[in-house]
Amino acid sequence: MAKLTGVAAAALSFASVFVCAQGAQAAPCLDVVLTGTSGPPPYKGLAGPGTLVAYGDEANDCRSVLLQFDVGRGTLMRLSQLDIEAAQMKAVFFTHMHSDHMEGFSDMVQMYWIFGPAQTTKLDVVCANDAKTETGMDLSCRKFVAHINDAYELSGETAYRKAEMKGVVDPAGPVAGLNLITFDPKEEPQVVWSSGDVKVSAIGTAHIPGSVAFRVDTPAGSVAIGGDSSNRIPAPPRKTSSSDELEAIAKGADVIVNTAIHPVLSPESGASTPPPVYYRQSNATDLGSMAQRAGAKVLMLTHLAPPIGASMQGTVRIQGGPLSAADYEKAARDGGFTGQVVVGGDLARVRLPRK
Ligand SMILES: [Zn+2]
Repeated sequence: MAKLTGVAAAALSFASVFVCAQGAQAAPCLDVVLTGTSGPPPYKGLAGPGTLVAYGDEANDCRSVLLQFDVGRGTLMRLSQLDIEAAQMKAVFFTHMHSDHMEGFSDMVQMYWIFGPAQTTKLDVVCANDAKTETGMDLSCRKFVAHINDAYELSGETAYRKAEMKGVVDPAGPVAGLNLITFDPKEEPQVVWSSGDVKVSAIGTAHIPGSVAFRVDTPAGSVAIGGDSSNRIPAPPRKTSSSDELEAIAKGADVIVNTAIHPVLSPESGASTPPPVYYRQSNATDLGSMAQRAGAKVLMLTHLAPPIGASMQGTVRIQGGPLSAADYEKAARDGGFTGQVVVGGDLARVRLPRK
């Protein structure tokens, strides 16, 4: 190889420094943030269930691709604490059609329409196809999304705002800014959405018809989000209260997020919880065992029953007094989990890769 001239050598070394600097800047990262952790009723200002997954690089604080999984009450308020607006969201995913996981969506749709890029960029909304219940009714994310603006339409609010904000908002209305993507939940993971390096897959779960768990894979790491998933066998005797499907999709994921009920509410421990109410959730101890089997590094417990500090869960008195985060962590450890336990806490966050 011919000897490089001084100028060429300098240019080459500048180029390699530049490439290195770019490489360093582009170190990918992933944030998993619990945007709400309450049960269905409001409790001490906690937001309703939801999880933000934010992928990017260290230079932009992991904020290239923002994905919201479930949109409980007050989600936008929590996102505002992270300086994130509806306008920045790339896609919303629903684990199931229970109102506590959905009721912040109307807020998000309005704000995306009024302040977002709705005229140029649609917000993807990803959920299961219509599912039949045993009683023959449809649980329909499709209809939920299509009719999310109906009350504002009928009240005249949307028309008034269109006139008031002519040239600013999309005259086609808020729903026109949404791009619905539905899929048939399967027993095996399937990819349901992707963008660049980010891939989201889903698997059907037991909770209500059409329930799914999701998994997000990125170069910075991966997270599985179970929603309210639990075991298909509705009560003991069974191997576990946790979801076999969530366990399958979570295999090898860095982080698992799931709704948790504490064993202090179990009928076996003498609590007056109606058995079907207790058994339809995954208990924190079984989630600990599952996370260990799946090889997760972090288990995030959310949508807690009972909430931390509560003396009652509905009409059920918490035996031994209110629970602390340590009580939840202990329950997960009792299941054999040796990784990090994060007990939600709105805005509890895990960043990947872990340092
Ligand atoms: Zn639910």
